[in-house]
Amino acid sequence: MIITDTHTHLYSEAFAEDQKDMIQRAIEAGVSRFFIPAIDSSYTEAMLQLERDFSENVFLMMGLHPTSVKENYQDELALVEDLLDKRSFYAIGEIGIDLYWDTSTLDIQKKAFRRQIQLAKKYKLPIVIHCREAFDEIFDVLEEEKSNDLFGIFHCFTGTLDQAKRAISFNMKLGIGGVVTFKNGKIDQFINQIDLKHIVLETDSPYLAPKPYRGKRNESSYIIKVLEKLSELYKLPQEKIAEITTQNSKDIFNI
Ligand SMILES: [Zn+2]
Repeated sequence: MIITDTHTHLYSEAFAEDQKDMIQRAIEAGVSRFFIPAIDSSYTEAMLQLERDFSENVFLMMGLHPTSVKENYQDELALVEDLLDKRSFYAIGEIGIDLYWDTSTLDIQKKAFRRQIQLAKKYKLPIVIHCREAFDEIFDVLEEEKSNDLFGIFHCFTGTLDQAKRAISFNMKLGIGGVVTFKNGKIDQFINQIDLKHIVLETDSPYLAPKPYRGKRNESSYIIKVLEKLSELYKLPQEKIAEITTQNSKDIFNI
């Protein structure tokens, strides 16, 4: 069984003590493909080191996270563009809009999001969207930018069934993680109405640990708990869910 974690921050300082052991644990549990979202330039070196250490398993994205969109965002975007020019990445991510932490930057968050969508089109790469309390704002930008060559993943999808269908209409797959195991996570109530061809698995570690680890540090091996939950909701064997979602990840990231 090959399980793909399509969104994991393995370079996080939360793993400073045991990064290699933690990754090894995941690989032993069958999680052998890790897609690594960028945040901002302060993490670039750690991401490149991770790739050197686990070149068979680790696939990097490049982008500027919405909570890192500050006054200097143009400089940060210039670094993103520079790296995209120099070497290859598997996606532009994570990008989007976050109105939970800061609403005052909405205007520049939108600009940075749009600019990075254009980069994705230029480099023919998928986008990985971060959306927090910003569905309407994100859908507005996607509506303006939609095209056949715009595709990707709505990471950590936490919306309603209607919002799920809308995301899919923009060529987005839904990234499903720990929230599906939460009692009040809501998406467990309708997710099996969405065809599995639109679903990919993720942990978003070190955040959003699934039950029974909720509130603790998350790590990629815990994706098994997400797989178990989806197996129960879709009434399909875990192997089948792993196979379909890994194939979906291959279709998106082209590896
Ligand atoms: Zn993330």
